[in-house]
Parts: sequence; structure tokens; C-alpha cells
Amino acid sequence: MKRFYLTTAIPYMNEKLHLGQVYEFILADVMTRFYRMMGYDVFFLTGSDEHGQKIFKTAAAKGISQKKYVDGMVADMQRILKLYCISNDAFIRTTDPGHEKIVQNIFNKMNDNGDIYKSTYEGWYCVPCETFFQDSQLIDKKCPQCSRPAEWIKEDNYFFRLSRYEDRLMKHIEQNPDFVIPEIRKNEFIGFLKQGLKDFSISRTTVKWGIQIPFDPEQYSYVWIDALINYISALGYSTENDALFKKYWPAQQQHVGKDILKFHTIIWPALLMSIGVPLPEHVVIHGWIMKGDEKLSKSKGITLDPDEMSARYGIDAIRYFFTREISFGLDGSFTAEAMQKRYNAELSNDYGNLVSRTLAMIDKYRNGVIPAHAGQDEEGGKLKQLWETTKKEAVSAITSWNYSECLVRIWEFVNAANKFIEDARPWEVAKDDSGKNRKKLDSILYSLAESIRLSTLLVFPFMPTVSRRIFSQLGIDKDPGDILLEDYGVWGAFEGNTRTGRREILFPRIENEKDKD
Ligand SMILES: [Zn+2]
Repeated sequence: MKRFYLTTAIPYMNEKLHLGQVYEFILADVMTRFYRMMGYDVFFLTGSDEHGQKIFKTAAAKGISQKKYVDGMVADMQRILKLYCISNDAFIRTTDPGHEKIVQNIFNKMNDNGDIYKSTYEGWYCVPCETFFQDSQLIDKKCPQCSRPAEWIKEDNYFFRLSRYEDRLMKHIEQNPDFVIPEIRKNEFIGFLKQGLKDFSISRTTVKWGIQIPFDPEQYSYVWIDALINYISALGYSTENDALFKKYWPAQQQHVGKDILKFHTIIWPALLMSIGVPLPEHVVIHGWIMKGDEKLSKSKGITLDPDEMSARYGIDAIRYFFTREISFGLDGSFTAEAMQKRYNAELSNDYGNLVSRTLAMIDKYRNGVIPAHAGQDEEGGKLKQLWETTKKEAVSAITSWNYSECLVRIWEFVNAANKFIEDARPWEVAKDDSGKNRKKLDSILYSLAESIRLSTLLVFPFMPTVSRRIFSQLGIDKDPGDILLEDYGVWGAFEGNTRTGRREILFPRIENEKDKD
């Protein structure tokens, strides 16, 4: 069986998850659900980044231990993952003792092969961003990322010979042009390489909440090095229990936001080269979620809270909106107006109505029993043909990160089924429901039920909960998550003759959303 390893960045546990982070989980989750459906052996990892000065200070200010503080934050993160139906197979915490040991193993390896040396670090540092800056990068002595004041620090640290890896990274991108996805981010990465890579400090003496450097216990790992290693420590790299590492590494897709591009396309690969581990196939970089045209910012009160959003729209609609609305890789914007438009037109009308009209007719004309599949010469022959193209194009779109395009293809099929109702006019056929006409009506109703089942299979990775409800309304007792596209994603694989479940409105229309902001 082909394996598929996908990771997300691990959020820093200093504050509650915001919707921009949830967006990354949604992208990753849709992708992994598709690969599972295509028969891959999938391992989907996420986790939490828990060390560093910022967390040390926040916990101290609250008067609780660092561990207790992060435990609470992690519990809340896991609650939100569950709320949004994120189907990760594992969750790594950087405070796991196993992870800490592996980080130390890696420091030893890098040291043994001469990639680490001691020197004096002096420069600007932003504590909340855990990032160093050069003088020229600061804006009014403030962090260019978060606009908070940067601190001047000076200490003896261990440095990593990043400069050694400039040529190898350039060669790697030449030989693997799709190493960085999408193209605009790849160009940014090449731009960084062309500026030249400088060695950088990978240890601290001032930050005690972290992982000790094995060959110098006065020093602690720079939190970013600690965090990046999660992608292989979760698989047991460099330990006796490294079966997962042997099986799944290198990762097929590492999903991250554009703000941490440099860490994942330069520092992480250089670190892997240093310890002789192959690089991931693709670093997949998404844009930011904006509210209207403003960047999310807690301090400025521009927020999209995952709990409020899910209470307002339901998680399926949110998962749909962000994958449909945004061109992958670019920044995307949320407005209540755009949400209402898509929700009512595409979810409530196109998809919801197809299901409710079809089930209502099956109730009315066949007492709630979906007619059996009759085989050849169906009324829905055109839909059957279209399905084969739809399936191919949807899979091809998603495997090239065109989330929105994938949904467009699925919706073309949904709307072809809606048009089929108008063309076949089942209410006319039902006026004389006997003999040939009875067969015809059976075939129309079956074709509609089958179209709903098949489109719902492709919808499932995007909207898992509503898909399960539709399956149960069709009287199918399988979970769409257990289904392989090549077996059950074929027209006619559903035999019919099932009693439909209780009907319910899938997407109740929403009104006046704009006024609620
Ligand atoms: Zn900052």
C-alpha cells in the first residue's frame, strides 16, 4: 500500500487557536481524507509547540507552572481540532519526554559532523515571535512581524552552519522544482537563497523553559529548532522505536503558513541535510486568512474565533467556505456577506435542495424506499457519464492543491443532477405510474439517489458531518470515511432498495449576516 505522511505546523501554545490556524488544519484534513479514500496508508500529524520564553513568561505571570499552563492550552487546542473534525492520526507535544530526547540526539549528531560552533550572538530579538532580526529589518525598532518592541540581546551561543547548505539547497530546488508549493512561494524561497544564508544561533542561556543542549547543560535549544524536529520525533527517529519513521518518512506534504516559509524551506531542510535525513517531498504553503481586508490581530481586536464561527455557521459550512472561496496559496478574506452568499446559493440551494427534493419524491412516489438499481439503459445515463469525468477531475484538482477547483467540479455534477430533475419531470411521469412509466420513474429516482451518494463521497473530505447525515438519509449504513473511491465511487455500486432515513434540512438558509458583524 502506498503511504502518505502529512504534517501541519505545530501552533505555539501561548494563546487560543485562531481561525487562520484552523484553516491550515482544514486544508490538511481535506487532503488526508482524499488520500485515505484513494487507498493510501495515511499518517496525519499535528501537535503543539510548548517551549520558549514567551510561554515561560505567560505562565509565570499567571502564577502557575509552565507545564500546567501548556497542559491547559493543549487541551483547548485538542477540543477545537475535534470540533472541526480534524482527523489527525497522532498529536506530538514538544514537552513529551520522547521528543526532548530526540532533539538532544540531533544536537549531538549536528555537533559530531561539525555543523555547530560556539560564538557570541548580539542582536535584536522579538520574544513573542521567537525570531532574530537584523537592524535593517526592524521598523521603528519594532518587530516587522508583530510590531512589538524588539529586545537587544547579547550572549554566547551555539551556532549552526547554515551557510554550508546554500548550494545544496539551490541544487535541491533545481532537481525538485515542486519542493515548494505553490510557485509564488517557491520564488520567495529562491529569493532568500540568492540573498545568501548566514549561520545562526540555535541555543540560548536566558531561556530556561526548553530542552538542554546535551554537551552544554547551561544552554537550551532555540525553540524553533526544538519545534521543527517534531516532524520526525513523532515518528521515533533515532530511537529503538523508529518503525513509523522507517515507514512514513520522508513526508509527502508539510503544510505551513507563508509567515514561516523560511523556517520550513531553508532551516528545516538544512537541518535534515546535516543529519543525513532525506527532505520532504513538498512544503505546501498557504496564505493568511483576513477579516475583510484586515489581517487578524488579537491586539487590534480583529478576530475570527473558531467557537463563535462554528456556533454561527456550523463547521461544515466553514470548511466549505474557506476551501471554495480562497485560491490556494494566496491570502483569503472572510466576510459575513460572502459567507451568506455561498452558503445560501451553493449549500442550501444547489446541494441541500437536490437532497431534499429527491428524498421528498422518493417519499411521495415510493413510500420512502429508493428503487433498486436496474442496470443498463438508465434515465440518468448522462449523469453516469459525467460522474466518471467529475471523479477524475476532482481527484486531479485536489492532488495538485486546487481545493477550490475540486469543489467547482463537484458542484457541476450536483447541478447536472438538479437539471436532470427539470428535464426528466418526474412529477409528469408519476401521473401514470404503471407499466413502462413505472420503470421510468424508478430509474429517475434511482439515478438521483445515486448522484447524491456519489457527489457526497467527494464532498465528504470537505464536509464530513453533513456527508454522514446525507448517507443516513439515503439509508446507507456505511461511513463515507471507510469507503474507497475505486470500489464504491462507481456508478451503480449502490444497489438501492433501501429505506430512506429521517429527513432533515441540511443547510437552513441564513439571513442578514452582514448586520450581525
Ligand atoms: Zn514579533
